[in-house]
Amino acid sequence: MTLNTSNKKRSKVNRPAPPIYWCMNCNIPLITSRCGLCSKQTKQINLGLPGDVRFCSPYERSILHDILITEYGTDPLESRLILLNKIGGDDKTDQVIVDGLFLGILHFNLAILDWKLDLNIEGAAILAQYTGRRTIELSEAGRHLSGKTIPSDMIRQCSKDIRPGDEVIVKYARLVGVGTALLGENEITKINNNNNKNNDNKNNNTNKAPALRIRKIKKTGPQSQLIERIATMDEVIQANRPALEQLSRDCVNTIRGLANQKQYNQTPIYVSFSGGKDSLVVLDLARSALKHTPAAYFINTGLEFPDNPEYVKRVCKDMDIELFEIKAGNAFLENIEKLGPPTKDCRWCCNVCKLVPINHEHDGKPHLNLDGKRRFESFTRSRIPPKEENPLVPGQVNIYPIRNWRAIEVWLYIYWKELEYNSLYDKGFERVGCWLCPAALIAEHCLVKQIYPELYSRWDKYLHNWALDNNLPKGYIEYGFWRWREHPPKMKLLAEQLGIPLRI
Ligand code: SF4
Ligand SMILES: [Zn+2]
Repeated sequence: MTLNTSNKKRSKVNRPAPPIYWCMNCNIPLITSRCGLCSKQTKQINLGLPGDVRFCSPYERSILHDILITEYGTDPLESRLILLNKIGGDDKTDQVIVDGLFLGILHFNLAILDWKLDLNIEGAAILAQYTGRRTIELSEAGRHLSGKTIPSDMIRQCSKDIRPGDEVIVKYARLVGVGTALLGENEITKINNNNNKNNDNKNNNTNKAPALRIRKIKKTGPQSQLIERIATMDEVIQANRPALEQLSRDCVNTIRGLANQKQYNQTPIYVSFSGGKDSLVVLDLARSALKHTPAAYFINTGLEFPDNPEYVKRVCKDMDIELFEIKAGNAFLENIEKLGPPTKDCRWCCNVCKLVPINHEHDGKPHLNLDGKRRFESFTRSRIPPKEENPLVPGQVNIYPIRNWRAIEVWLYIYWKELEYNSLYDKGFERVGCWLCPAALIAEHCLVKQIYPELYSRWDKYLHNWALDNNLPKGYIEYGFWRWREHPPKMKLLAEQLGIPLRI
């Protein structure tokens, strides 16, 4: 655990994210290039940075389903395995990968506070085989249409559901593309009817109003199709098993090696268990690595999701691991009146709800701490060393055994070992820490509102009163501007678009 301050510079990752692979024969995602089921050649999938690819949760699957049905009238993905790869964006933003193809980008749009799916070419090519909705067919196609705006007289047909601003599938012969409609179907049809009438009357007065902006268009073939075979999670584990065994062997050796170093062999070892998936894996690896299973500690910040403390206790009991619960009590409430809501650039609560209680507990005594932090989680975590002294907790040396794992490896390990993971993940949360954390995305705050309405409304009421006391504009809370003191450029831009003056 380290404090995040506004002065801390982002250390950008310059290297590309490590790829994943896809066995097109078994239709299975792989963490190495070899399929453990069929040994056939696999396809390399290059990921957007930071590359923390994971399995789509049931909640995220339901969002995809709703968008596909609402916008395209079909969901051809059925029970296929879907991967999501978190990339940069204003809020939650993921590349959607299915059957070894990039379907599109699923993102929470802050301007409308709702989900959007922007198809890419492969996604458009797949959907075009199942739907005629949200589709524009061109009557002609010159070269280099990608990035161009075209007039309605180049449109042969336009599905009736299209309104201005809609994301659409663009078709011409074997070309498939994606674009944005600038006019609705009504207008396009009206302009084209008038143009036809003018042509019939030998009148050259053709209306060339821009009707469609084409983002990208290209020839697609059989490689842009869904694969008939749908794999099960058991098969995915089998196919990845040799790689998983190697990964966990390496981690066990790392933990053993560090714990057995002369300087540490009398030092107590703990696992910090937050209730999250990463520390769950470290807990299990530590059990396998060490003769005496280390104790776990859980910092209860007082801002935990309601079921989290019970889950943490249950897992430790089932694993026969001694658990210390370190409680922050009312520290948050005792400080908020004086300090105002915590923000991403001023996380005072990490200090009072985590650092103060843990320092009180350990009291400077030397100890090793096995921590589930990983370098692919974010750009700021890209340079985690194998171990480091924690300057904020005197006596603590942190060891990061799974620092090189991506979320997909964590999940595969959990499924392989049949560990009980936190049910918050299936509900759509990606982090199981404090429920009101300013570092959480607005998509996650909306989920809190949906699943824990009472908790949310208490916090929402506090924020609105605070905004009123500080003369902050309408929308400051709804759109999540309260999460910064000094707003980043993307939020300043959003405020400008929404007409919300930022001042504090
Ligand atoms: S709310 Fe966020 S910033 Fe505050 S203690 Fe929890 S994790 Fe840290
Ligand atoms: Zn295979």
